[in-house]
Amino acid sequence: MALLQVENLTARYGPVEVLHGINLNVNEGEIVSLLGANGAGKTTLLHSICGLHTAKEGRIHFNQHDITRMPAEAVVPKGMAHAPERRQIFSTMTVEDNLWLGASHRMGKESKKDLNIEIESIYERFPILAERKWQMGGTLSGGQQQMLAIGRALLSKPKLLLLDEPSLGLAPLIVKEILTIVQEIRAEWGTTILLVEQNARAALSVSDRAYVLSTGTVMLEGHAQEIANDPRVQSAYLGHSHTAI
Ligand code: ATP
Repeated sequence: MALLQVENLTARYGPVEVLHGINLNVNEGEIVSLLGANGAGKTTLLHSICGLHTAKEGRIHFNQHDITRMPAEAVVPKGMAHAPERRQIFSTMTVEDNLWLGASHRMGKESKKDLNIEIESIYERFPILAERKWQMGGTLSGGQQQMLAIGRALLSKPKLLLLDEPSLGLAPLIVKEILTIVQEIRAEWGTTILLVEQNARAALSVSDRAYVLSTGTVMLEGHAQEIANDPRVQSAYLGHSHTAI
């Protein structure tokens, strides 16, 4: 069943249209990756979905709600969380306070005790964050900051987690660790995941399906293995053959 349905979505910056009629579905329990070169429109699509950018035309349905043009603060309580590109954690706040921000819309509605239990479950999932809970966010390594960004997003209890380029700037071994965590989150919490990546090989290795964006349109979609075997993808993103997208 589709948890997220994007229909014929267009988006602009001023007069310039950068998404031209995108159709995309994410089914409950899937890991779907959104691939494409620099400037293809991946972040704009993610921002349009989570309410940080207003779509010009088209419709976005999520978890039985029409969320088209709904602002981010209204989308989060419906069960969607976003871990943004370059993590955007608060570098002069402690790890613990960064985590509490993820639960902010639940404060006052749920008991502090219950929220504390969930923060503890994030520390269990990411023991390095527990060790560093009183350190400033800015003192963490890139991989640890990515764990913090994911942990913070999980604290809003999302059904759908949007991850924007979690591998950006990380060493290959750490990328592997982060993508393993992505799979474990789905396995342990049943969270559905839409993963934006330029690192196509790594993303396809953990995804069920993928969409490839090229200059604001979906130029390919399918099962991860089919996409990985497509000669155009191999040429443009996986370093094989010579056919260009
Ligand atoms: P990257 O991997 O580099 O983040 P992307 O696939 O996420 O690329 P977007 O960031 O969505 O692509 O950009 C899509 C297009 O929109 C690009 O041509 C980009 O230059 C343009 N764009 C992005 N943000 C803005 C903005 N704030 N104002 C104007 N144009 C923008």
